[in-house]
Amino acid sequence: MFNIDIRYNLYCSPKKYSWRGAGVVELDALEKRCLLRWTVGSNPTLSAIVWAIYPSLFKMKLKKLLFFVVVSILALSLVLIKLATGTIYVDGPLMQSIADQLSFGPRYVGSNGHQKVRQYIQKSLKSTDAAVFKQAWVDEETGMALENYLARFNPEARRRIIIAAHYDTDPTAKKDKHRSSAPVPGASDGASATAVLLQLAKTIKSADIDKDIGLDLVFLDAENYDAGSFSDWHPKGSGYFARNIGEFYAQLPESALVVDMVCDKNLNFNQEKASLQSANGTVSKVWQIGRALDPKAFSGDQLVEIKDDHNQLISAGIPSMVLIDLDYPYHDTTADSIDKCSEKSLVTTLELLKRYVQASAK
Ligand SMILES: [Zn+2]
Repeated sequence: MFNIDIRYNLYCSPKKYSWRGAGVVELDALEKRCLLRWTVGSNPTLSAIVWAIYPSLFKMKLKKLLFFVVVSILALSLVLIKLATGTIYVDGPLMQSIADQLSFGPRYVGSNGHQKVRQYIQKSLKSTDAAVFKQAWVDEETGMALENYLARFNPEARRRIIIAAHYDTDPTAKKDKHRSSAPVPGASDGASATAVLLQLAKTIKSADIDKDIGLDLVFLDAENYDAGSFSDWHPKGSGYFARNIGEFYAQLPESALVVDMVCDKNLNFNQEKASLQSANGTVSKVWQIGRALDPKAFSGDQLVEIKDDHNQLISAGIPSMVLIDLDYPYHDTTADSIDKCSEKSLVTTLELLKRYVQASAK
């Protein structure tokens, strides 16, 4: 949303008087000319800029004036385009990653954006210290070709912990009052946790972790699958990963931390019921680290019940929790866009995960 309210009045005077702001001032250069009094809404800065530029326009020759007008229009168009695409809010590598993912379009299974985000993840993981694996299969129920990715640090270690996030987005904005059949952009729900996990993969080294413990960053496909109603919801990527856990693990991982929706400017986490039942120790550890990092974000005192990829991992016998900020009014709407996000919230989550890995590896 971007509104500029420009108002003007025309003041003509045969003498050298004109209006400026609240007072009357003399402007010799503007003698015998009419003066437009511009105001830009109630914004004093923009009004001051207009006032600073305006008198000099009278002194310009026609060619220069035309050049000035063309350049101004181009600059304004650029700002409006950037505002429309959301990229103007980018102010750090994590926000840049969200902007990159959003530039692919919606990323639900079968969409072009889904293909592009897969390539983006695999390309990003190439420049990390991790051993990267692809788990590809065709879903029997739907025929969808799905892919999970694992970035494994200390791949030889038997004792392992998992940090996971889904990279797909919801094909329909179910909670959107006006466009419920449109796809969700997924800045928070899809791109945010993917951005944090990719950045974690880039910054961590196997040598940073105790050699007896392995870390697996798992990028899950098709969390947003339902056969038309939420009651049919069953995430495909984590379901397949959980049912085939032996493919990558000689013994069950010690814990799994699922991260989802972590970019909201007003970051606010609450503890989750199934997570507490399954992985009380992990929840305590995460909250202890979180409260030290950002007390406000971890001050939520509600016990919530949220369905996410952690449910599938729990069913495979892995103590699992979800860290999710569902106190986000844009969830499952077309307004889940980058302007709701902040680099600060993403950095908080990234730092939390780094400290969690360090604490887990002791
Ligand atoms: Zn999600």
